[in-house]
Amino acid sequence: MSMIEFKSVSKSFGANVVLDKVDLSIDQGEVVVLIGPSGSGKSTLLRCINALEEINGGDLIVDGINVRAGKAKVREIRLEAGMVFQQFNLFPQLTAIENVAFGPRQVRGMSKTEAVKLAAELLAKVGLAERMNNFPNELSGGQQQRVAIARALAVKPKVMLFDEPTSALDPELRQEVLRVMQALAEEGMTMVVVTHEIGFARQVGTRLIFMENGHIAVDGPPRELIDNPPNQRLKEFLQHVE
Ligand code: ADP
Ligand code: MG
Repeated sequence: MSMIEFKSVSKSFGANVVLDKVDLSIDQGEVVVLIGPSGSGKSTLLRCINALEEINGGDLIVDGINVRAGKAKVREIRLEAGMVFQQFNLFPQLTAIENVAFGPRQVRGMSKTEAVKLAAELLAKVGLAERMNNFPNELSGGQQQRVAIARALAVKPKVMLFDEPTSALDPELRQEVLRVMQALAEEGMTMVVVTHEIGFARQVGTRLIFMENGHIAVDGPPRELIDNPPNQRLKEFLQHVE
């Protein structure tokens, strides 16, 4: 069974059709890299997966749960799919470890002791054992984004969604975030990653999807598609971002 299944999914904002009958099936353990021009629907596709956007047509099933099945189910889906945004969105008034422990306490009902222990483990995993008690504004962008990844992982999602996680970072801070994402991929996490990092797509992606105007224009193995783009628009897009 697929982890994520789009069946003719449509999403519009008013008259603007942003996802146009998208069919897409993602298996457990796949690392899907999503690229495409600005406005092609990448963020909307991600946001539909964790029910931040409501779909208008078709069916979308995440780990066996249909996103249209109602409020209680939507809550379940949010727990299944962790999301990391371009702007890290940490709670500014909480320390790193408090940011990470927040989710498991609130939504998984973990005890404070357990949540803090888990948070410390996850911060160590993303290389921030020494920074647990710092507030977000005392951390670099790369460190904040790693806290955000730890925070998403703390809820024990089955899928991780990344929306341009390195776009707000200076080039020298991007690698530390990409390395954490690579480690996660190597552990077998199912991931959908919107990014312009073509090196990451090549090295870590198991699948590359090129979106255009709300549909999937190209879908295949990253290396093949990057080395030999099957259409002119993908070729031009890649020349642009590399
Ligand atoms: P991408 O991430 O590929 O740049 P988006 O999914 O953000 O594309 O946006 C696709 C289209 O949907 C754009 O035309 C954008 O203006 C529109 N859109 C996205 N979110 C909203 C929203 N909340 N309300 C209205 N239009 C939106
Ligand atoms: Mg976007």
